[in-house]
Amino acid sequence: MRLQTLAALLCAALLLVACGQQTPAAAPTQAPAAANATPQVAAAPLDEPLNVVATTGQIADAVTVIAQDKVQLTNLLGPGVDPHTYVATESDLQTFQNADLIFYNGLRLEAQMDRVLEQIGASGTVKVVAVGDTLDPLTLLNWEPEAGLPYDPHIWNDMRLWTRVIYTIRDTLMEMDPAHASVYEANAARYATEIETLHEYTLEQVQRIPQERRVLITAHDAFNYYGRAYGLQVEAVQGISTESEASVADIQVLADLVLERQVPAIFIESTISPRTIEAVIAAAREGGQEVRIGGELYADALGEPGGDADTYLKMMRHNIDTIVMALGA
Ligand SMILES: [Zn+2]
Repeated sequence: MRLQTLAALLCAALLLVACGQQTPAAAPTQAPAAANATPQVAAAPLDEPLNVVATTGQIADAVTVIAQDKVQLTNLLGPGVDPHTYVATESDLQTFQNADLIFYNGLRLEAQMDRVLEQIGASGTVKVVAVGDTLDPLTLLNWEPEAGLPYDPHIWNDMRLWTRVIYTIRDTLMEMDPAHASVYEANAARYATEIETLHEYTLEQVQRIPQERRVLITAHDAFNYYGRAYGLQVEAVQGISTESEASVADIQVLADLVLERQVPAIFIESTISPRTIEAVIAAAREGGQEVRIGGELYADALGEPGGDADTYLKMMRHNIDTIVMALGA
């Protein structure tokens, strides 16, 4: 009797251990074996919606469009926040640790934060995806390879390139939450079509700018993908990152270009002080060329909620309309 009782207890204990091991691994991501055999049967839903963190507004907007209310989303970098210089707070680190899934731009855009994100990803407890790293390097523009910065991180400024990021976000969500795969797939397909329409619109609008005036001068070098995709010569006061200061010589070079090409307007950016752009205007004026501020472009962050650039599509639409209005005939 005693031996039998002991055996029963051991058996029960082993079952408990087995249960404890199986539950977290099997429940969230895998459909039961029977469902695998019959593809029509939906995957088991998650106990709770995925807790997703996105660094930039552009990425957060994509997650919102693709996942809608199927995930719980935190957007770290709000309107007007410069991703190059933003340092994660204690509270941000907690937000990262509590997430199921983190999307960040990568390619050293979030230069003060990406090492921490890499470490969290390597720990294996949170799925961390640097969307820029998933792109084919042949589609990327070089940055400063000699400084350990191989690629320009402003990938959202080429809408076709950004569509590939949309598919990366879709695929990651489908993999982690297969119960809503069809929702993610349909929303991403619709979004890709909308982005393609705006891409075509942007190409058409650039044609309204006289060829010699297709020069886009901005505060920092965020628009190189834009220039490549839509046929504009792009020049900036500051480099690709906002971490380095512009020099007097940088400002004079741009003022000379304004004079040479009779550029009618140059642009300030929502995340950067207009000081350097104003210095270019003053230097051009000394040379006898009146150039005005053509408007504010959204380079690295979305605009305020409720404004004309509070989504990726609205931001890109605002930018092309502002550029054409200022440089067009
Ligand atoms: Zn930038």
